[in-house]
Amino acid sequence: MPEALAYAIDGPTGRFARTIIQRREPGPTEVLFDVVYAGICHSDIHTARGEWGPATYPLVPGHELAGVVREVGPGVTKFSVGDRVGVGCFVDSCGECEQCRAGDEQFCDGPGGTIWTYNATGRDGLPTAGGYSTCITVEQDYLCRIPDGIELANAAPLLCAGITLYSPLKRWGAGPGRRVAIVGMGGLGHMGVQIAAAMGAEVAVISQTRSKEADGRRFGASEYHAVSEPGTLRALRKSFDLIVSTVSADQNLNALIGCLKTGGALVDVGLPEHPVPLNLSGLVGQRRILAGSQIGGIAETQEMLDFCAAHGLAAEVEVIGGEDINAAYDRVVASDVRYRFVIDTSTFKG
Ligand code: NAP
Ligand code: ZN
Repeated sequence: MPEALAYAIDGPTGRFARTIIQRREPGPTEVLFDVVYAGICHSDIHTARGEWGPATYPLVPGHELAGVVREVGPGVTKFSVGDRVGVGCFVDSCGECEQCRAGDEQFCDGPGGTIWTYNATGRDGLPTAGGYSTCITVEQDYLCRIPDGIELANAAPLLCAGITLYSPLKRWGAGPGRRVAIVGMGGLGHMGVQIAAAMGAEVAVISQTRSKEADGRRFGASEYHAVSEPGTLRALRKSFDLIVSTVSADQNLNALIGCLKTGGALVDVGLPEHPVPLNLSGLVGQRRILAGSQIGGIAETQEMLDFCAAHGLAAEVEVIGGEDINAAYDRVVASDVRYRFVIDTSTFKG
């Protein structure tokens, strides 16, 4: 069985340490690929630290994988050895339910539901282990092709951060003549600004401070607002057709809802630890919409990768080694990342 070097954490207050895990020999329609880079998503941190409930340890997170195919099963038709591929938040689903047939495998209603890339149980009955590892075996239908124009390190975060913003921006009509605000300019948010601008929308960033303003404008925003400045959200009352919030911590959604035009939509993609209070009159009184969105299906993820390549977009990353994961987690929580940490798995050899 192929062995992978990996970084695992052994409990919610633990630290990452190097380990060895086993991967499957590729089955008839499976692909074994070498993970070259793995992004660190804030969801990895919520999961590893038990903020979304108990996780299964030892835990190898990572759902933004970019790499190169090493071996394919005899029935694989979609990929060949040497292809540049990526995997996002899930590695399997039933393929037959209404959601899967609609291309929304992330909402699979089948018996096992969507099988997440880590902290889940795979079709072999074994715990899934994510991308902080040197290789992984995945069914061909759950892989995407990384376009030639995007470096693997900059492509990895697209598999979660990119699709999580692309999907709601497209669904809710970001485009010419529409005013769109992206709240929180971290890993997800910095992709949202770039994608919304490429879709032709007029883009504003709503951040905690102005420390990233120059970057926000470089990513395509024409406005930048800091909530630390008193009166900011009040001044933005009824300003936006669409707001996408990527905030990872508890926040006041009611104030953001007030920034929507009549009939505007606030789509939340952030998943903080605690429930948020909601004042329904802000929605009812202006016929506003509050929605959520979770990543995207495989076909839409491929469409997003091709869109990013066509528009010259990619994640801006800080490449780190396996030994740096613990420190990187603390920096992400402190909003001190420009704009995604990406782990170089060649450092795992020690
Ligand atoms: P991230 O890189 O840490 O970015 C989160 C941003 O939220 C920060 O950069 C910061 O933006 C803002 N923020 C953080 N603490 C805040 C606070 N106390 N008050 C106000 N703003 C604050 O995280 P990420 O990887 O982009 O993920 C963001 C959230 O989305 C996480 O909860 C994650 O679990 C979730 N997520 C959801 C999906 C999905 O499918 N729906 C997919 C991936 C991730 P500024 O510095 O600009 O203020
Ligand atoms: Zn993620």
